[in-house]
Amino acid sequence: MENNNIFNQWLTGLKKNKPLIIAGPCSAETETQVLQIAHELKNSEVSIFRAGIWKPRTRPGGFEGVGAIGLKWLQKVKKETGLKIATEVANATHVQLALEHDVDVLWIGARTTVNPFAVQEIADALYGTHKIVLLKNPVNPDLSLWIGGLERLHNANIKNLGVIHRGFSTYEKTKYRNNPEWQIPIELQSKFPNLPIICDPSHITGNRNRIQEVSQQALDLNFNGLMIETHCSPDNAWSDAAQQITPNTLFTILKELKCRKITDNTDDYLQKLNTLRVQIDAIDEKLLENLGKRMQIANKIGLLKKEKNVAILQNNRWKEIQKKMIFSGKEKGLSEAFILQLFKAIHQESITHQEKVFKK
Ligand code: PEP
Ligand code: MN
Repeated sequence: MENNNIFNQWLTGLKKNKPLIIAGPCSAETETQVLQIAHELKNSEVSIFRAGIWKPRTRPGGFEGVGAIGLKWLQKVKKETGLKIATEVANATHVQLALEHDVDVLWIGARTTVNPFAVQEIADALYGTHKIVLLKNPVNPDLSLWIGGLERLHNANIKNLGVIHRGFSTYEKTKYRNNPEWQIPIELQSKFPNLPIICDPSHITGNRNRIQEVSQQALDLNFNGLMIETHCSPDNAWSDAAQQITPNTLFTILKELKCRKITDNTDDYLQKLNTLRVQIDAIDEKLLENLGKRMQIANKIGLLKKEKNVAILQNNRWKEIQKKMIFSGKEKGLSEAFILQLFKAIHQESITHQEKVFKK
């Protein structure tokens, strides 16, 4: 899928130079609930109203959505408020029903993106559509699976595509419900700079107190919009209660968010930036030079081990390096997670070099 300029046309058509705001409840619960939220959101920065009709639940027995009846409520929202309407689709039947009810934006949920059969079925059902189709990232941190899903939709001649970043599942508990792993959407953005990318801070944080912070991070990273779960009575929501906020809280958050410019064309900014970048480039060069030297020494160690028939991996030495570097890194203001990641990569490269020496 080449980087296609048509990608961002629907976005610029909707909101010029402002983040696109999608808001509404996690789930449509009753007609009254849906309409009440929508009326509070009209005449604001929100341009698309979201509500889940079919809910993918981790365990059976929870609220699994009101089903097709909810589409009638969404149609009423559009008629009464002028907001565009959005819902999640997970199979061809959902797509057909959503199209019959003139839903404007269809999103594919994280649990569906992981399944190429399901994405293909949805892509086929949407063939050639001009509706806006947003693909959430897969639950697992796998960029190629996300891109694969996009390719299926693109190949189905779907014109108005975008993605939603909602974070990734982890086995271990972190401070997020779904870890953002920002490097993954950043890599996607750099591969497809014209693909609209929207952040879903609700599913990333799982916690209404952190929506503002993650929304700001997304805008700082040039995201094009936000999808924020909004409910008139969040604590009583039938799903995802802890992460929903009231329309008023949403307005306060939106008012406080700072929209960053892509760049600044003043000479002062460009000159200062350039000076700093020259320094960074020089340091990067030195880093590579030193890494090259380190690998030459690793080769010599490899030769020595080969001569004495000693195993390449020396776990004690490796543990010692990690301990020393974490300690030293901390003194330089570098996080433990970063040092570990960095030295794992360096250590792996040394092993690869020594393996080559062993094979000779
Ligand atoms: C949702 O948006 O309500 C939802 C189910 O999201 P996700 O697919 O990101 O879990
Ligand atoms: Mn939800």
